[in-house]
Amino acid sequence: TSTPPTVGAAPRKWRVATVSLAGCFGCHMSLLDIDERLFELIERVEFDRSPLTDLKTLAPCDLGLVEGGLCNAENVEVLRRFRAQCRILVAVGACAITGGLPALRNHLDVGEVLRATYGERVPDDPELPLPLARVLPVHEVVRIDHALPGCPPPADAFWQLLQDLMAGRAPALHGGLIRYD
Ligand code: SF4
Repeated sequence: TSTPPTVGAAPRKWRVATVSLAGCFGCHMSLLDIDERLFELIERVEFDRSPLTDLKTLAPCDLGLVEGGLCNAENVEVLRRFRAQCRILVAVGACAITGGLPALRNHLDVGEVLRATYGERVPDDPELPLPLARVLPVHEVVRIDHALPGCPPPADAFWQLLQDLMAGRAPALHGGLIRYD
């Protein structure tokens, strides 16, 4: 994988962006569960667009963490922008990797689901993003570099992933760090 970025001889902070598409923010909460290691992380990382910063635009980043699959056109647009700006892209959690819980609607017709939910007055404001016919995992829309499984992935798995990537190694997730529940 990649080597750590440097400015001259001195390592610089990694620029990291995170986003939640069709997800529940549980993966973001699990990242925060690294607890006091957040202090160490913030010494080595600066956050770009993320729910942690509330930035709405995205600069070129070393790493993008994507939570959630894609359920509407806005998700697709946001994800493509992430891919274009992030040197390394990681699909985080079951929803990003497989579509997860939101993909349970995939065996139903999206129009029928909307009519069953809203009756005859299905919201159609042009500002609302169009739902996709099928909830998609991240890898069906853009290339991903790594996947971090779990619902959510444990905090220690986030920590291992970040340590490995920032050291220029492929993530070595093992034993209890890989969970599918
Ligand atoms: Fe939430 Fe689990 Fe999906 Fe993460 S993988 S966004 S915790 S439902």
